[in-house]
Amino acid sequence: MSKWSYTRGLHDLGNSVYAYLQPDGTWGWSNAGILVDGEASLLIDTLFDLKLTQQMLDTMRKSIPAAAHIDMVVNTHANGDHCYGNELVADAQIIASARTAEEMMEGVKPQLMAAVLKQAAQLGQLGEYMSRIFGSFDFDNITLTPPKTTFEGELSLTVGEKAVHLIEVGPAHTRGDTMVYIPGDRVVFTGDILFIGGHPIIWAGPTSNWLRACDRLLAMDVETIVPGHPGHGPITDKQGVIEVKTYLEYIFEEARKRYEAGMPALEAAMDIPLDRYATWTDGERIAVNVASIYRELKGDSVQPDMVSSFSLIAALALQH
Ligand SMILES: [Zn+2]
Repeated sequence: MSKWSYTRGLHDLGNSVYAYLQPDGTWGWSNAGILVDGEASLLIDTLFDLKLTQQMLDTMRKSIPAAAHIDMVVNTHANGDHCYGNELVADAQIIASARTAEEMMEGVKPQLMAAVLKQAAQLGQLGEYMSRIFGSFDFDNITLTPPKTTFEGELSLTVGEKAVHLIEVGPAHTRGDTMVYIPGDRVVFTGDILFIGGHPIIWAGPTSNWLRACDRLLAMDVETIVPGHPGHGPITDKQGVIEVKTYLEYIFEEARKRYEAGMPALEAAMDIPLDRYATWTDGERIAVNVASIYRELKGDSVQPDMVSSFSLIAALALQH
């Protein structure tokens, strides 16, 4: 049992570090966070659309005086549910790994998301699935606002007197995944390196590097771990890291056996028993996970575009 309740809004982790949670943690419902010291503030991720990001900023400003002005923002990775709200904090120093900044500019734009949702009725299974998972977000009139400061590997910051370390552990979930570690408070925000109670999704891979990221987390002196998406027990600890690691090892091994037996990837995705992961949300993500592992085993590093990946996921989701 987690000592944290999984409710929407701000959760005080102690020492002026807060998580902002958005149940139910499935597609697009990401976590964010803020830490302050004196007048200084650092926001960890913005949300999927402007309305949600504005609500979050308003909530933070109500209970945290230093949140009146956000000084710095870190985007943990390039997926829209972690950066589409950046324009509302455009005057802050927005920081991300160089690979995340690059992926943000090359990846799915909010305009494409808006167009797909508007044309959903003509897009068959893809349209049906995208409306189901993303229909409640508003992608109109978002101006993608990229980071101004980029780094490779690690970057140390100070927020007031607090030391904060940005640790790039990608490519894993995406190309440039970054964790935000606050050693003095023994807290880490992992971005989407951790999905708790939901299937993680391997957009970029390789899986081996994601497993290294899990090991790095396990070796850290931390007590409180804020995952990118929690499906249950919002804020986690090292047990949550072990669960994600075990999942990745299981899926990799099951996919490898089927790859070596010559089974096509989508067939393998349908064939792998979900077993103890059957209760985790978004099980259809296994379609992309197996495809990514097959690419990895083939030595093919070219990541397919998001639309074809979502078509795979939709095919799996809607066949039941
Ligand atoms: Zn996410």
